[in-house]
Amino acid sequence: MAVLDRPATDEQLVNERLDALLTEHDPKATDARTFLGAQFDAGLAWVHFPEGYGGLGVSPKLQRTVNERIAAAGGPNSYWRNPIGAGMGAPTVVTHGTEEQKQRYLKPLFTAEEIWCQLFSEPGAGSDVASLATRAVRDGDEWVVNGQKVWTTLAHLSRWGMLVARTDPEQPKHRGLTYFVVDMQARGVEVRPLRQITGEAEFNEVYFTDVRIPDAERLGDVGDGWRVSLTTLMNERVSIGGAIAPKGSGPIGEAVKIWKAKGLGDPALKDELMKLWAEAEVNRLTNIRASQLRAVGTPGPEGSTAKLAFAELNKRVYEFCLNLMGPEGMLYGSYEMIRPETAMGADSLQKAFLRARANSIEGGTSEVMRNILGERVLGLPGDVRVDKELPWSKVPRS
Ligand SMILES: Cc1cc2nc3c(=O)[nH]c(=O)nc-3n(C[C@H](O)[C@H](O)[C@H](O)COP(=O)(O)OP(=O)(O)OC[C@H]3O[C@@H](n4cnc5c(N)ncnc54)[C@H](O)[C@@H]3O)c2cc1C
Repeated sequence: MAVLDRPATDEQLVNERLDALLTEHDPKATDARTFLGAQFDAGLAWVHFPEGYGGLGVSPKLQRTVNERIAAAGGPNSYWRNPIGAGMGAPTVVTHGTEEQKQRYLKPLFTAEEIWCQLFSEPGAGSDVASLATRAVRDGDEWVVNGQKVWTTLAHLSRWGMLVARTDPEQPKHRGLTYFVVDMQARGVEVRPLRQITGEAEFNEVYFTDVRIPDAERLGDVGDGWRVSLTTLMNERVSIGGAIAPKGSGPIGEAVKIWKAKGLGDPALKDELMKLWAEAEVNRLTNIRASQLRAVGTPGPEGSTAKLAFAELNKRVYEFCLNLMGPEGMLYGSYEMIRPETAMGADSLQKAFLRARANSIEGGTSEVMRNILGERVLGLPGDVRVDKELPWSKVPRS
């Protein structure tokens, strides 16, 4: 659409595009991929992305209008089908990718034809992910990768992985990294299930043995992998903790429902419920404010506030729910190993309680979130970092 054709306000533009999308592609009669493809073409995938890449170049706060109207019409949700791709892969590609990469990756990512995973954590590098040891060595127009990643959510379904590997061990840890998009079906990539406390294997360990990655699938410059990773990590925190659900919905809505169903009159429990409800509402309002401040859609360290608050509250709310359930809270369907089709899903309160334990670990632990908030938001003195300026190869590791 030419610039002259744009309506007076961005809000009108988004609503006009939505009207056309919902009229031309009735969500109830259109298959999910076709609908999501049309949503992408209309610039309604990530409205703050530039035109031509699934966006309209408008404020990210208008995405809420899109999501709410499509959900109300019974349309599909890309995020639930491809959470790591839609929440973290796409913003990284649009920020750091070449024109060719943006054209290749973004649309099938949004339609969930191609699922994405994040290959950052390793057995010896989690919170301190910049110390990772997976090696990529250049060989002509390709890179040869060897190493092991762990806790890789949805790797078993993925077509592409966001891989950070060490390309220069003689540089200090943050400077010798390079970021790649790796084909998860390439020869030498092995995905093995890891079972969680829920019984499901939503994540995996991934082994790389002489995997060849074309240089054209490198994202950003050689040695610039840490800067590219920060885009993924900042978006991860917002993606995990920054969702803006309707008032009183989500986990706290579950707690209210079960409170009503149990008909308990205990004033101490009611007091606890009200405190949790007030905290959930404060988090929700804080997220609305943060999303409105994010004029260009690039989250900063303040995304750690949402992630920390979400993780800690979620655990407490589900603990409260299980307390209300009494002995029923100990009943669990089955521990049979399942390979789920999506991440963070739960079909019972018992499973939600167990799954919530991971919230304060995944996407950065609560302790690490507090460090980030202390240092980068409040400006407090930094953590002790003895290895920051040493060449990575000179740092002792187990
Ligand atoms: C459900 C789930 C899904 C995940 N999915 C993915 C994924 O898809 N891709 C991926 O790459 N990773 C994934 N992870 C990994 C996750 O990012 C790491 O588990 C996390 O960063 C912590 O690293 P670690 O497990 O190695 O713990 P460690 O870093 O070894 O930490 C151990 C303990 O020490 C504390 N600690 C560490 N450093 C500090 C410090 N400087 N100050 C204070 N305390 C500190 C931590 O808070 C923690 O309590 C997932 C994890 C979970 C639980």
